[in-house]
Amino acid sequence: MPAQYPWLEPYRQKLAEVMARNHLPHALLVTGQPGMGKSAFSGMLAQLLLCEDREDSAVPCGRCKGCVQFRAGSHPDYFVVAPEEESQVIKVDQVRELGEKLALSSYHAGFKVAVINPAEAMNINAANSLLKTLEEPSDNTVLVLICTRPARLPATVRSRCQQLRIAAPDPAMAQAWLATQLDGQDPERYLQLANGAPLEALRLAESQVIDSRRKQFLALVSVLEGKADPLAVAADWGRDERLQPVHWLRDWLMDMIRIRATGQNGAVHSVDLAEGLAKLASRLDGRILFRQLDNINRMLRSNDGSLNRQLMVEDILLAWAAQQ
Ligand SMILES: [Zn+2]
Repeated sequence: MPAQYPWLEPYRQKLAEVMARNHLPHALLVTGQPGMGKSAFSGMLAQLLLCEDREDSAVPCGRCKGCVQFRAGSHPDYFVVAPEEESQVIKVDQVRELGEKLALSSYHAGFKVAVINPAEAMNINAANSLLKTLEEPSDNTVLVLICTRPARLPATVRSRCQQLRIAAPDPAMAQAWLATQLDGQDPERYLQLANGAPLEALRLAESQVIDSRRKQFLALVSVLEGKADPLAVAADWGRDERLQPVHWLRDWLMDMIRIRATGQNGAVHSVDLAEGLAKLASRLDGRILFRQLDNINRMLRSNDGSLNRQLMVEDILLAWAAQQ
């Protein structure tokens, strides 16, 4: 996981040194703003501790029973405490239960690891209950508290944990990483919006993509209903150098063909738009759908210049407008 998130690498190395010297604390408070990879880092630490075959104590092997069980989410010595469904808080019973489990000996005769995420979700009773566990830690137990706002934790809890703050990475590194995830979008802008937190920047960029995809779909519906000018929409779609709207349109055509073939919308890939797609599919001639799909595939395969592509997008949308 650290290789996946390069800015976490220095923290992993530091941790490896601490482990090599056998100085690992019983409780670690991992802090940092949202989108820094605190959960990923804690998960990596947990897997490292539970790995039964780590060669240099810095990287989990990925193959041993401990690693396999950890990745399957079924390691008997790994515990995650988070707010239960529809609740915002971690309750005292959850923390008490964790304390009981940690007091037992481990199944694999190695470490027991517990992650509390987010630690600031513990209500005051839960935090008090955790204090007992922190004051009398059992052997080979590591407790990881993940926290965005450590000031919200009682000072008594904070003072019993070693703090590790994950800071915003070097902007050049964050930008380079984000660029590999974004497929042509502007990584610098999203990093600014996210205060330099790479995973938050990625989340923002992805939600923007979802927004613009929905907008394209509504534009298509408007064209079909005669409420939007197909040429104006085509000009808008044509501005996207990577022809993203046309790729989406292809997905939607395939979904509509699926709906018509099966008579139900459970088979669609664009689950969020299933209802709208079903409505469109019921109004369109199946032959048009196939013909358009053919045209789009041909267009995406060709290396035509942007003017030709623009004309093809216009053709497609004019054909839709003619369907009303
Ligand atoms: Zn392993």
